Amino acid sequence: MTQAPNVHDAEPIPEAARAEIDRLLSSGDLFRYTAPQDAPVALLEREFAAEMGTAYALAVSSCSAALFLSLKALDLPRGGRVLIPGFTFAAVPSSVVHADLVPVLCEVGEDYRIDLADFEARLDGVDAVLVSHMRGHTSDMDAIMALAEARGLPVVEDAAHSLGTIWRGRKIGTLGRVGCFSFQSYKMVNAGEGGILVTDDADLVARAVIMSGAYEHNWAKHMAAPDAALEAAFARWQNRLPLYNLRLNNLSAAIIRAQLPEIARRVQAGRANHDRVAARLDASPWLSVPEALVGEERAPDSIQFNLVGLGDAETRDFAAIAAARGVKVQIFGQSADNARAFWNWGFLPGGTPDLPRTRAMLMRACDVRLPARLSRADCDAVADIVIGAVSEVIGARRAYGT
Ligand SMILES: *Cc1c(COP(=O)(O)O)cnc(C)c1O
Repeated sequence: MTQAPNVHDAEPIPEAARAEIDRLLSSGDLFRYTAPQDAPVALLEREFAAEMGTAYALAVSSCSAALFLSLKALDLPRGGRVLIPGFTFAAVPSSVVHADLVPVLCEVGEDYRIDLADFEARLDGVDAVLVSHMRGHTSDMDAIMALAEARGLPVVEDAAHSLGTIWRGRKIGTLGRVGCFSFQSYKMVNAGEGGILVTDDADLVARAVIMSGAYEHNWAKHMAAPDAALEAAFARWQNRLPLYNLRLNNLSAAIIRAQLPEIARRVQAGRANHDRVAARLDASPWLSVPEALVGEERAPDSIQFNLVGLGDAETRDFAAIAAARGVKVQIFGQSADNARAFWNWGFLPGGTPDLPRTRAMLMRACDVRLPARLSRADCDAVADIVIGAVSEVIGARRAYGT
Protein backbone atom coordinates (compact mmCIF):
# COMPACT_ATOMS: atom_id res chain seq x y z
CA MET A 1 0.00 0.00 0.00
CA THR A 2 1.24 3.48 -0.89
CA GLN A 3 2.68 5.36 2.08
CA ALA A 4 1.33 8.91 2.25
CA PRO A 5 3.97 11.60 2.87
CA ASN A 6 3.67 14.13 5.69
CA VAL A 7 2.58 17.29 3.89
CA HIS A 8 2.14 19.40 7.03
CA ASP A 9 5.60 19.76 8.54
CA ALA A 10 7.51 22.89 7.61
CA GLU A 11 11.09 22.97 6.30
CA PRO A 12 13.73 23.64 8.96
CA ILE A 13 14.70 27.32 9.27
CA PRO A 14 18.13 27.75 7.60
CA GLU A 15 21.14 27.56 9.90
CA ALA A 16 22.10 31.03 8.77
CA ALA A 17 19.36 32.43 11.04
CA ARG A 18 20.94 31.01 14.21
CA ALA A 19 23.82 33.46 14.76
CA GLU A 20 21.56 36.48 14.31
CA ILE A 21 18.90 35.03 16.61
CA ASP A 22 21.59 34.36 19.26
CA ARG A 23 22.79 37.94 18.94
CA LEU A 24 19.24 39.24 19.39
CA LEU A 25 18.61 36.95 22.37
CA SER A 26 21.76 38.08 24.14
CA SER A 27 21.23 41.77 23.48
CA GLY A 28 17.45 41.68 23.99
CA ASP A 29 17.18 43.99 20.98
CA LEU A 30 13.81 42.79 19.69
CA PHE A 31 11.95 46.04 18.95
CA ARG A 32 12.48 47.42 15.45
CA TYR A 33 12.95 51.02 16.61
CA THR A 34 15.49 50.48 19.42
CA ALA A 35 18.66 50.42 17.32
CA PRO A 36 19.64 53.76 15.79
CA GLN A 37 19.75 52.17 12.34
CA ASP A 38 19.88 48.89 10.40
CA ALA A 39 17.58 46.88 12.68
CA PRO A 40 16.81 43.44 11.21
CA VAL A 41 13.28 44.60 10.29
CA ALA A 42 14.67 47.60 8.40
CA LEU A 43 17.22 45.40 6.61
CA LEU A 44 14.45 42.97 5.65
CA GLU A 45 12.43 45.83 4.17
CA ARG A 46 15.41 47.00 2.11
CA GLU A 47 16.22 43.49 0.88
CA PHE A 48 12.62 42.66 0.06
CA ALA A 49 12.06 45.92 -1.85
CA ALA A 50 15.26 45.27 -3.81
CA GLU A 51 14.14 41.70 -4.53
CA MET A 52 10.74 42.89 -5.78
CA GLY A 53 12.11 45.93 -7.58
CA THR A 54 9.89 48.38 -5.68
CA ALA A 55 10.86 51.70 -4.09
CA TYR A 56 9.43 50.82 -0.66
CA ALA A 57 8.52 47.92 1.60
CA LEU A 58 6.91 47.92 5.05
CA ALA A 59 7.12 44.77 7.18
CA VAL A 60 4.20 44.19 9.55
CA SER A 61 2.68 41.52 11.78
CA SER A 62 0.73 39.65 9.05
CA CYS A 63 -0.52 39.86 5.49
CA SER A 64 -3.93 40.70 6.94
CA ALA A 65 -2.34 43.70 8.66
CA ALA A 66 -0.66 44.67 5.38
CA LEU A 67 -4.01 44.51 3.55
CA PHE A 68 -5.75 46.54 6.26
CA LEU A 69 -3.00 49.19 6.27
CA SER A 70 -2.98 49.34 2.46
CA LEU A 71 -6.71 50.07 2.44
CA LYS A 72 -6.36 52.65 5.23
CA ALA A 73 -3.40 54.21 3.41
CA LEU A 74 -5.49 54.65 0.24
CA ASP A 75 -7.56 57.15 2.23
CA LEU A 76 -10.88 55.93 0.80
CA PRO A 77 -14.14 57.42 2.07
CA ARG A 78 -15.61 55.65 5.10
CA GLY A 79 -18.12 53.08 3.84
CA GLY A 80 -16.41 52.99 0.42
CA ARG A 81 -16.84 49.82 -1.63
CA VAL A 82 -13.98 47.43 -2.35
CA LEU A 83 -14.39 44.77 -5.05
CA ILE A 84 -12.90 41.41 -4.03
CA PRO A 85 -13.13 37.91 -5.51
CA GLY A 86 -15.76 35.57 -4.07
CA PHE A 87 -13.07 32.90 -3.65
CA THR A 88 -10.44 33.95 -1.15
CA PHE A 89 -9.50 33.52 2.51
CA ALA A 90 -11.76 35.10 5.16
CA ALA A 91 -8.89 37.43 6.14
CA VAL A 92 -9.47 39.40 2.92
CA PRO A 93 -13.08 40.53 3.44
CA SER A 94 -12.15 40.89 7.13
CA SER A 95 -9.43 43.43 6.30
CA VAL A 96 -11.97 45.41 4.24
CA VAL A 97 -14.53 45.44 7.06
CA HIS A 98 -11.81 46.34 9.57
CA ALA A 99 -10.87 49.35 7.42
CA ASP A 100 -14.48 50.65 7.68
CA LEU A 101 -15.13 49.71 4.04
CA VAL A 102 -17.69 47.41 2.42
CA PRO A 103 -16.60 44.30 0.50
CA VAL A 104 -18.34 43.69 -2.83
CA LEU A 105 -17.83 40.14 -4.09
CA CYS A 106 -17.52 39.05 -7.71
CA GLU A 107 -17.77 35.62 -9.27
CA VAL A 108 -14.80 33.28 -9.65
CA GLY A 109 -14.76 30.60 -12.36
CA GLU A 110 -13.99 26.89 -12.32
CA ASP A 111 -10.35 27.81 -12.98
CA TYR A 112 -10.26 29.67 -9.60
CA ARG A 113 -9.76 32.98 -11.40
CA ILE A 114 -11.84 36.14 -11.37
CA ASP A 115 -14.74 36.04 -13.84
CA LEU A 116 -13.88 39.14 -15.86
CA ALA A 117 -17.40 39.81 -17.18
CA ASP A 118 -18.84 39.71 -13.66
CA PHE A 119 -15.89 41.77 -12.36
CA GLU A 120 -16.56 44.47 -14.93
CA ALA A 121 -20.31 44.40 -14.32
CA ARG A 122 -19.75 45.15 -10.61
CA LEU A 123 -17.22 47.98 -11.00
CA ASP A 124 -19.72 50.85 -11.01
CA GLY A 125 -19.86 52.50 -7.60
CA VAL A 126 -16.71 50.75 -6.41
CA ASP A 127 -13.90 52.81 -4.78
CA ALA A 128 -11.04 50.29 -4.96
CA VAL A 129 -10.20 46.78 -6.14
CA LEU A 130 -8.53 44.15 -3.95
CA VAL A 131 -7.34 41.27 -6.14
CA SER A 132 -6.64 38.15 -4.12
CA HIS A 133 -4.43 35.68 -6.00
CA MET A 134 -6.02 32.79 -4.13
CA ARG A 135 -3.72 29.76 -3.73
CA GLY A 136 -1.34 31.59 -6.06
CA HIS A 137 -3.70 31.46 -9.07
CA THR A 138 -3.28 34.65 -11.08
CA SER A 139 -6.33 36.17 -12.73
CA ASP A 140 -5.87 38.06 -16.01
CA MET A 141 -4.04 41.03 -14.52
CA ASP A 142 -3.74 42.87 -17.84
CA ALA A 143 -7.52 42.96 -18.15
CA ILE A 144 -8.07 43.78 -14.46
CA MET A 145 -5.52 46.61 -14.44
CA ALA A 146 -6.96 48.06 -17.67
CA LEU A 147 -10.53 48.01 -16.31
CA ALA A 148 -9.46 49.55 -12.99
CA GLU A 149 -7.22 52.18 -14.56
CA ALA A 150 -9.95 53.23 -17.00
CA ARG A 151 -12.04 54.17 -13.94
CA GLY A 152 -9.13 55.56 -11.90
CA LEU A 153 -9.55 52.84 -9.26
CA PRO A 154 -6.56 51.83 -7.11
CA VAL A 155 -5.72 48.11 -7.08
CA VAL A 156 -4.39 46.33 -3.99
CA GLU A 157 -2.86 42.90 -4.64
CA ASP A 158 -3.23 40.18 -2.02
CA ALA A 159 -0.13 38.21 -3.00
CA ALA A 160 -0.03 36.26 0.30
CA HIS A 161 0.38 33.03 -1.60
CA SER A 162 2.10 34.37 -4.72
CA LEU A 163 5.67 35.11 -3.68
CA GLY A 164 7.75 34.12 -6.72
CA THR A 165 4.87 34.14 -9.20
CA ILE A 166 5.51 35.94 -12.50
CA TRP A 167 2.79 37.48 -14.68
CA ARG A 168 4.00 38.23 -18.23
CA GLY A 169 7.51 39.02 -17.04
CA ARG A 170 6.45 41.04 -13.98
CA LYS A 171 6.43 40.00 -10.33
CA ILE A 172 3.00 39.46 -8.83
CA GLY A 173 2.53 41.96 -6.01
CA THR A 174 4.13 44.79 -8.02
CA LEU A 175 1.35 45.28 -10.58
CA GLY A 176 -1.16 47.15 -8.42
CA ARG A 177 -0.66 50.33 -6.38
CA VAL A 178 0.40 48.13 -3.46
CA GLY A 179 1.08 44.41 -2.99
CA CYS A 180 0.86 42.37 0.23
CA PHE A 181 2.67 39.15 1.16
CA SER A 182 2.44 36.72 4.09
CA PHE A 183 5.15 35.01 6.14
CA GLN A 184 2.66 32.78 7.97
CA SER A 185 3.80 29.15 8.24
CA TYR A 186 1.83 27.81 5.27
CA LYS A 187 3.39 30.28 2.81
CA MET A 188 6.64 30.24 0.81
CA VAL A 189 8.59 31.94 3.61
CA ASN A 190 7.75 30.80 7.15
CA ALA A 191 8.16 33.01 10.20
CA GLY A 192 5.11 31.66 12.01
CA GLU A 193 3.49 35.05 11.46
CA GLY A 194 4.45 38.15 9.49
CA GLY A 195 3.64 40.17 6.42
CA ILE A 196 5.00 42.87 4.17
CA LEU A 197 3.64 45.41 1.72
CA VAL A 198 5.48 46.80 -1.31
CA THR A 199 4.75 49.95 -3.29
CA ASP A 200 6.35 52.74 -5.32
CA ASP A 201 3.97 55.32 -3.83
CA ALA A 202 5.76 57.53 -1.26
CA ASP A 203 2.56 59.05 0.11
CA LEU A 204 0.90 55.65 0.54
CA VAL A 205 3.88 54.08 2.28
CA ALA A 206 4.32 57.10 4.58
CA ARG A 207 0.73 56.78 5.73
CA ALA A 208 1.09 53.01 6.18
CA VAL A 209 4.37 53.38 8.10
CA ILE A 210 2.86 55.87 10.55
CA MET A 211 -0.33 53.83 11.05
CA SER A 212 1.74 50.62 11.51
CA GLY A 213 3.09 52.22 14.68
CA ALA A 214 6.01 54.53 13.76
CA TYR A 215 5.17 57.05 16.47
CA GLU A 216 7.06 60.33 16.96
CA HIS A 217 10.13 60.42 14.73
CA ASN A 218 10.50 56.66 14.20
CA TRP A 219 9.52 57.17 10.57
CA ALA A 220 13.08 58.46 10.03
CA LYS A 221 14.30 54.86 10.45
CA HIS A 222 12.39 53.96 7.29
CA MET A 223 14.75 55.99 5.11
CA ALA A 224 17.94 54.17 4.17
CA ALA A 225 19.04 57.06 1.97
CA PRO A 226 17.81 60.64 1.57
CA ASP A 227 14.40 60.61 -0.14
CA ALA A 228 12.78 64.02 -0.54
CA ALA A 229 9.40 62.67 -1.65
CA LEU A 230 9.18 60.29 1.31
CA GLU A 231 10.35 62.89 3.80
CA ALA A 232 7.75 65.36 2.54
CA ALA A 233 5.07 62.67 2.85
CA PHE A 234 6.09 61.88 6.44
CA ALA A 235 6.00 65.59 7.27
CA ARG A 236 2.55 65.82 5.72
CA TRP A 237 1.06 62.97 7.73
CA GLN A 238 2.90 63.15 11.06
CA ASN A 239 0.47 63.47 14.03
CA ARG A 240 -2.53 63.22 11.73
CA LEU A 241 -3.13 59.45 11.68
CA PRO A 242 -4.11 56.85 14.28
CA LEU A 243 -1.51 54.25 15.29
CA TYR A 244 -2.61 50.63 14.93
CA ASN A 245 0.70 49.09 16.10
CA LEU A 246 1.01 46.22 13.66
CA ARG A 247 4.81 46.17 13.64
CA LEU A 248 7.05 43.17 13.00
CA ASN A 249 9.74 42.30 15.58
CA ASN A 250 13.44 41.70 14.95
CA LEU A 251 13.37 37.95 15.70
CA SER A 252 10.77 37.38 12.98
CA ALA A 253 12.78 39.51 10.57
CA ALA A 254 15.90 37.41 11.25
CA ILE A 255 13.95 34.23 10.51
CA ILE A 256 12.54 35.72 7.30
CA ARG A 257 15.85 37.16 6.06
CA ALA A 258 17.56 33.78 6.32
CA GLN A 259 14.94 32.33 3.97
CA LEU A 260 15.11 34.97 1.23
CA PRO A 261 17.98 33.14 -0.55
CA GLU A 262 15.84 29.95 -0.46
CA ILE A 263 12.93 31.41 -2.42
CA ALA A 264 14.21 30.62 -5.92
CA ARG A 265 14.83 26.97 -5.03
CA ARG A 266 11.48 26.60 -3.30
CA VAL A 267 9.68 28.12 -6.29
CA GLN A 268 11.39 25.72 -8.71
CA ALA A 269 10.78 22.67 -6.52
CA GLY A 270 7.18 23.62 -5.74
CA ARG A 271 6.40 24.13 -9.41
CA ALA A 272 8.02 20.81 -10.38
CA ASN A 273 6.07 18.97 -7.67
CA HIS A 274 2.82 20.64 -8.69
CA ASP A 275 3.26 19.95 -12.39
CA ARG A 276 4.18 16.31 -11.77
CA VAL A 277 1.04 15.67 -9.72
CA ALA A 278 -1.13 17.83 -12.02
CA ALA A 279 -0.19 15.74 -15.08
CA ARG A 280 -1.14 12.55 -13.25
CA LEU A 281 -4.45 13.83 -11.90
CA ASP A 282 -5.51 15.54 -15.10
CA ALA A 283 -5.22 12.23 -16.97
CA SER A 284 -8.17 10.91 -14.94
CA PRO A 285 -11.59 11.57 -16.49
CA TRP A 286 -12.95 12.33 -12.98
CA LEU A 287 -10.37 14.97 -12.10
CA SER A 288 -9.58 18.25 -13.80
CA VAL A 289 -6.62 20.54 -13.07
CA PRO A 290 -7.10 24.04 -14.54
CA GLU A 291 -4.10 25.17 -16.58
CA ALA A 292 -1.97 28.20 -15.88
CA LEU A 293 -2.90 31.24 -17.97
CA VAL A 294 -0.61 32.18 -20.87
CA GLY A 295 2.31 34.12 -19.41
CA GLU A 296 1.67 32.98 -15.82
CA GLU A 297 4.69 31.32 -14.15
CA ARG A 298 3.40 29.86 -10.92
CA ALA A 299 5.01 29.28 -7.52
CA PRO A 300 2.69 26.68 -5.97
CA ASP A 301 3.02 24.87 -2.66
CA SER A 302 -0.33 23.10 -3.02
CA ILE A 303 -2.52 21.76 -5.80
CA GLN A 304 -6.16 22.48 -6.60
CA PHE A 305 -8.32 20.34 -8.87
CA ASN A 306 -12.01 19.84 -9.58
CA LEU A 307 -14.03 16.65 -9.25
CA VAL A 308 -15.86 15.99 -12.52
CA GLY A 309 -19.29 14.37 -12.56
CA LEU A 310 -19.35 13.30 -8.90
CA GLY A 311 -22.45 13.81 -6.77
CA ASP A 312 -22.41 15.23 -3.24
CA ALA A 313 -22.28 11.84 -1.51
CA GLU A 314 -19.55 10.64 -3.89
CA THR A 315 -17.57 13.81 -3.23
CA ARG A 316 -17.71 13.17 0.52
CA ASP A 317 -16.81 9.48 0.00
CA PHE A 318 -13.83 10.47 -2.14
CA ALA A 319 -12.48 12.77 0.59
CA ALA A 320 -13.06 10.11 3.26
CA ILE A 321 -11.22 7.40 1.30
CA ALA A 322 -8.27 9.70 0.55
CA ALA A 323 -8.12 10.73 4.22
CA ALA A 324 -8.15 7.11 5.38
CA ARG A 325 -5.16 6.53 3.11
CA GLY A 326 -3.29 9.51 4.54
CA VAL A 327 -4.00 12.36 2.10
CA LYS A 328 -6.15 15.16 3.46
CA VAL A 329 -8.18 16.60 0.59
CA GLN A 330 -9.96 19.79 1.57
CA ILE A 331 -13.05 20.46 -0.52
CA PHE A 332 -13.59 24.16 0.02
CA GLY A 333 -17.40 24.10 0.13
CA GLN A 334 -17.91 20.81 1.97
CA SER A 335 -17.51 21.78 5.61
CA ALA A 336 -19.63 23.99 7.84
CA ASP A 337 -16.75 26.26 8.77
CA ASN A 338 -14.34 26.45 5.83
CA ALA A 339 -12.87 29.97 5.90
CA ARG A 340 -12.56 30.01 2.09
CA ALA A 341 -16.30 29.52 1.43
CA PHE A 342 -17.96 32.94 1.18
CA TRP A 343 -21.21 31.76 2.78
CA ASN A 344 -19.27 31.20 5.99
CA TRP A 345 -18.33 34.92 6.15
CA GLY A 346 -21.27 35.73 8.39
CA PHE A 347 -19.75 39.14 9.17
CA LEU A 348 -20.34 40.50 5.64
CA PRO A 349 -22.51 43.61 5.77
CA GLY A 350 -25.70 42.97 3.81
CA GLY A 351 -25.56 39.19 4.26
CA THR A 352 -24.36 36.41 1.98
CA PRO A 353 -24.20 37.45 -1.68
CA ASP A 354 -25.57 35.29 -4.47
CA LEU A 355 -22.61 33.89 -6.43
CA PRO A 356 -23.87 30.66 -8.06
CA ARG A 357 -20.77 30.03 -10.20
CA THR A 358 -18.36 30.47 -7.32
CA ARG A 359 -20.56 28.33 -5.08
CA ALA A 360 -20.71 25.50 -7.65
CA MET A 361 -16.91 25.62 -8.05
CA LEU A 362 -16.32 25.52 -4.27
CA MET A 363 -18.53 22.41 -3.93
CA ARG A 364 -16.19 20.39 -6.19
CA ALA A 365 -12.82 22.15 -5.86
CA CYS A 366 -10.21 20.14 -3.95
CA ASP A 367 -7.10 21.41 -2.19
CA VAL A 368 -4.06 19.29 -1.28
CA ARG A 369 -0.85 20.62 0.23
CA LEU A 370 2.26 19.89 -1.83
CA PRO A 371 5.21 21.59 -0.14
CA ALA A 372 8.44 22.19 -2.03
CA ARG A 373 10.37 19.77 0.22
CA LEU A 374 8.45 16.68 -1.06
CA SER A 375 10.40 14.17 -3.13
CA ARG A 376 9.19 12.83 -6.46
CA ALA A 377 8.22 9.59 -4.75
CA ASP A 378 6.19 11.59 -2.21
CA CYS A 379 4.41 13.40 -5.04
CA ASP A 380 3.68 10.13 -6.80
CA ALA A 381 2.26 8.72 -3.57
CA VAL A 382 -0.11 11.69 -3.26
CA ALA A 383 -1.21 11.26 -6.89
CA ASP A 384 -1.68 7.50 -6.45
CA ILE A 385 -3.87 7.96 -3.37
CA VAL A 386 -6.04 10.68 -4.94
CA ILE A 387 -6.52 8.69 -8.16
CA GLY A 388 -7.12 5.50 -6.19
CA ALA A 389 -9.78 7.19 -4.07
CA VAL A 390 -11.71 8.58 -7.03
CA SER A 391 -11.45 5.25 -8.87
CA GLU A 392 -12.90 3.49 -5.86
CA VAL A 393 -15.86 5.89 -5.72
CA ILE A 394 -16.54 5.44 -9.44
CA GLY A 395 -16.03 1.66 -9.16
CA ALA A 396 -18.66 1.52 -6.39
CA ARG A 397 -21.07 3.42 -8.65
CA ARG A 398 -20.63 0.79 -11.37
CA ALA A 399 -20.92 -2.11 -8.94
CA TYR A 400 -24.16 -0.86 -7.44
CA GLY A 401 -25.51 0.69 -10.62
CA THR A 402 -26.25 3.97 -8.88
C1 LIG B 1 -2.62 33.33 4.13
C2 LIG B 1 -3.42 34.26 3.31
C3 LIG B 1 -3.84 35.51 3.80
C4 LIG B 1 -3.60 35.94 5.22
O1 LIG B 1 -2.24 36.02 5.56
P1 LIG B 1 -1.82 36.21 7.10
O2 LIG B 1 -0.37 36.55 7.03
O3 LIG B 1 -2.08 34.93 7.80
O4 LIG B 1 -2.65 37.33 7.63
C5 LIG B 1 -4.54 36.34 2.96
N1 LIG B 1 -4.83 35.98 1.70
C6 LIG B 1 -4.45 34.80 1.19
C7 LIG B 1 -4.77 34.48 -0.24
C8 LIG B 1 -3.75 33.90 1.97
O5 LIG B 1 -3.39 32.71 1.46
